[in-house]
Amino acid sequence: MFITFEGVEGCGKTTQLRLLKERLQARGHRVTATREPGGCPIADQMRAILLDAQNSAITPLAELLLYAAARAQHVQEVIVPALERGEVVLCDRFTDATVAYQGHGRELDLATIEQLNRLATGGLEPQLTLLIDCPVETGLSRARARIEAATGAREERFELESILFHERVRQGYLGRAAAAPQRFLVIDGSGDVAATEERVLAALSGKLSV
Ligand code: C5P
Ligand code: MG
Repeated sequence: MFITFEGVEGCGKTTQLRLLKERLQARGHRVTATREPGGCPIADQMRAILLDAQNSAITPLAELLLYAAARAQHVQEVIVPALERGEVVLCDRFTDATVAYQGHGRELDLATIEQLNRLATGGLEPQLTLLIDCPVETGLSRARARIEAATGAREERFELESILFHERVRQGYLGRAAAAPQRFLVIDGSGDVAATEERVLAALSGKLSV
């Protein structure tokens, strides 16, 4: 079973993925937890390029193609083999992130993105997508606090332009969820970790044994 976690910065998806992984393992499921961009050595090298602030001159198209390249490697090397072994695969961001960030956020052509996603994944789609939704301001302030705690320096990256960008990303995700309600479970992530975890488990009950 292939389950992806999506949402804006600071929504809590990485934490929820880890909690679900521990829970599923305790229930006897075999679980592969992975993330994008990255998830294997070659794709992790592409992640380093994508997330390096020094590379802010990367063009939106080059960025899109690099996400696709990293995904192609990750799908073939990690996700497909784990699914073939019968494991539950939990992936932190996947194709919907490209639609939300490069499509709605950077406003690249959505049809091109869909085409690239199909090419990179060989048509593999998640069976379930947990969209951890919260207001952009909530997510960004959590992300800012996390960065400041780690670096000890004031974090000023989340200026107005960035808030509008992340708002487009959030709306992109919500629109996608509304268009594919069978696959998406939209979880309110505005509360604390335990409240969000309860919502995740409630949404999954009946879909797999949690
Ligand atoms: O998953 P995580 O929140 O760690 O994402 C790392 C960064 O990559 C975030 O800053 C996110 O905005 C960015 N990203 C992106 N396009 C994607 C996936 C992630 O810009 N398709
Ligand atoms: Mg995260």
